[in-house]
Amino acid sequence: MTGGAERGILWIISAPSGAGKTSLARALVAATPQLRTSVSYTTRSPRPGEVEGTDYHFVPTEAFTAMAERGEFLEFAKVHGNGYGTSEPWVKSQLFAGTDCLLEIDWQGARQVRERLPGQAVSIFILPPSVAALAERLRDRGQDSEAVIARRLAAAREELLHYDEFDYLVVNDHFQDALADLQSIVHAEHLRRGYQQYAQHQRLKNLLGMSG
Ligand code: GDP
Ligand code: ADP
Ligand code: 5GP
Repeated sequence: MTGGAERGILWIISAPSGAGKTSLARALVAATPQLRTSVSYTTRSPRPGEVEGTDYHFVPTEAFTAMAERGEFLEFAKVHGNGYGTSEPWVKSQLFAGTDCLLEIDWQGARQVRERLPGQAVSIFILPPSVAALAERLRDRGQDSEAVIARRLAAAREELLHYDEFDYLVVNDHFQDALADLQSIVHAEHLRRGYQQYAQHQRLKNLLGMSG
């Protein structure tokens, strides 16, 4: 991208737990300069290997509630019995700096963001290839107890019911194909006129003969 955009694109990725959104989001961010993931606040406990400030900001319920009451969340929701929320100041600072910002949030959060920032977010829903594959991935991830896995599988249909609120659907069957789909979406969205108007501001001005 040339010309320097004055504002970034706000991305939302949602999926049932285990569909692969965290792995895909990580690979997408690694392959995309100018795209950063928002680190959510959560009341759930860290999984083995999860790092404070990298995977989540792990906070006690009281601290989470206080942040919500102070209006510090762009959106927040209860998912699988835990609180999850997105820091509004962080997201806004990224967007104003021209950096794309990726939110890995559930459908309730996605809905709140669309209401708070109409027309600003581009949302993508990740579909697992099948229920069997979803169950297998949750088990293979090996980080949740059987009880937690059962709860997440039961919640999968509830999340899936909201697929039609999203702009794009990507099936995560073969990981590299799904990643390529995501990269195509990111590329195309940056070519939309609304974005290019900022990115190509100087070029447009020159072409239209209003300066140099
Ligand atoms: P995973 O779905 O297996 O990766 O499990 P997580 O515990 O990481 O996430 C649980 C749920 O919370 C998912 O539906 C996420 O999309 C959602 N979630 C994570 N962070 C946020 C957030 O900041 N806001 C909202 N609303 N949901 C979040
Ligand atoms: P989510 O964030 O949606 O809960 P994860 O990214 O944690 O999902 O992925 C769940 C598990 O499935 C992980 O162990 C991950 O390595 C695996 N996985 C992700 N995508 C694929 C894929 N296309 N094929 C096979 N396994 C996958
Ligand atoms: P996990 O606990 O497995 O990391 O995440 C469970 C679910 O919480 C996922 O579906 C994830 O997208 C969602 N989630 C994570 N962070 C947020 C957030 O900040 N807001 C919302 N609404 N959902 C989130």
